Amino acid sequence: MTARVLVVDDILANVKLLQARLMAEYFEVITASNGPDALEKCRAGQCDIVLLDIMMPGMDGYEVCRQLKADVRTAHLPVIMVTALDQQSDRLEGLKSGADDFLIKPVDDIALTTRVKSLARLKMVTDELQMRVSTGREFGIDDPRDNHIDPKEGRGGKLLIVDDRASSYEKVVDALGTEHDLTVITNPQEALFRAADENFDLVIISLAIENFDALRLCSQMRSIDRTRLIPMLLVTQKGDEAALLRGIDLGVNDYISRPIEPCELKARTRTQVKRKRLNDRLRARVQQTMEMAVRDSLTGLNNRRYFDRHMQNLFDKAVASGKSLSLVVLDIDHFKQVNDTYGHQAGDDVLKTFAERLLKNVRGKDLACRFGGEEFVIAMPETDQELAFVVADRIRREVSAHPFVVEGGSKQISITVSAGIASMSTTGDSITDMVKRADAALYDAKRNGRNQVVAEAA
Ligand code: GH3
Ligand code: MG
Ligand code: MG
Repeated sequence: MTARVLVVDDILANVKLLQARLMAEYFEVITASNGPDALEKCRAGQCDIVLLDIMMPGMDGYEVCRQLKADVRTAHLPVIMVTALDQQSDRLEGLKSGADDFLIKPVDDIALTTRVKSLARLKMVTDELQMRVSTGREFGIDDPRDNHIDPKEGRGGKLLIVDDRASSYEKVVDALGTEHDLTVITNPQEALFRAADENFDLVIISLAIENFDALRLCSQMRSIDRTRLIPMLLVTQKGDEAALLRGIDLGVNDYISRPIEPCELKARTRTQVKRKRLNDRLRARVQQTMEMAVRDSLTGLNNRRYFDRHMQNLFDKAVASGKSLSLVVLDIDHFKQVNDTYGHQAGDDVLKTFAERLLKNVRGKDLACRFGGEEFVIAMPETDQELAFVVADRIRREVSAHPFVVEGGSKQISITVSAGIASMSTTGDSITDMVKRADAALYDAKRNGRNQVVAEAA
């Protein structure tokens, strides 16, 4: 994994030092010696992560961070504050300005690479999701709020703490109990099950669990689908450096070493919770975008695009298994008259109700789609022509037997539907041809007086 790191420091020697270390880890490094220069480079999209010195003449690091977080173009950039003094007040101030992480000068090598790696990974996931969300813009369903990170969002997280020593987890509970909802589990296996069952925002794992390799839990978490995306934070102590590096490679997102400094744990936890929620939101949006691309918004049925894709799967499966496959095309009779007489809204109501009735009459493995306008299609796997006829005629009868309610219940309209059926032939059939034959049968149904089902001639 590589990332572009912007190192901001007014003292050239400090810049050079961080630059050398980061380049040794194959990060790309760009530099800035003051706040305004740093802001400009960030806004121009030149970096993925910012290492920010606090004490700079003119604009200090806090102010740079505040401005970065306040600008939609740069709010998603992870910021690591580099502080000369290990003082709680510094960290609190950094936290308030929206920093994602801290490093203390002189900067420790392991701390530097693990923090940068972990944040680079988080940003990569977010970038990928954001790219997919922006695809949604083409469908006109982008919401700018998706990209927004509210600083308060890092609170009220649902956290799982995995630690078997009370003296150790009590410190974590003391630090985080007031602003998060905590669950403490002393047994690592049980923790894995809980993590898979419940929707945690962060799992905090002690590397010192007795008789158990905590890294095994980390690796299991990353290999199970339902826990793969939950952030993990390791609690380490001096001498754990090798294990920590392996943990980071396994996908651990962050760590804190003992003795735990409550303020630091709070900050790290908020960062992870915030990112988790942003990613959850983006992921939900991507899901919705994909859904909308294949769904008809009026009826909620799948649309023609989806039909074309999925029908190919059903067709291939039928060919491979030698089982039958039937296609029913349905078209509402004299639908134009509904619009003309009762208005377009009434027409829409009829289409919605029609779709509901359609769904009620097909099985789960059948595929019902709105083909366009007032035309619908049902693909029925493992269904021969005779059975398809029974289903289609049941729908036809139900439609004509029960009037459609429109205009909020004030009017009822009698509707009929015609349908044509084609079934897959065992000798070299194609989807295009099946659709054509079903259409031809539908045309016959219309010509013969409507309100009827016609199967293609054998
Ligand atoms: P036939 O029995 O031959 O099928 O006659 P028809 O009137 O149903 O067929 P035609 O194709 O002439 O008219 C279809 C009408 O469906 C025309 C179009 O305005 C209307 N329509 C298509 N999509 C929608 C929609 O989403 N909402 C509404 N309200 N009407 C629609
Ligand atoms: Mg029609
Ligand atoms: Mg039509």
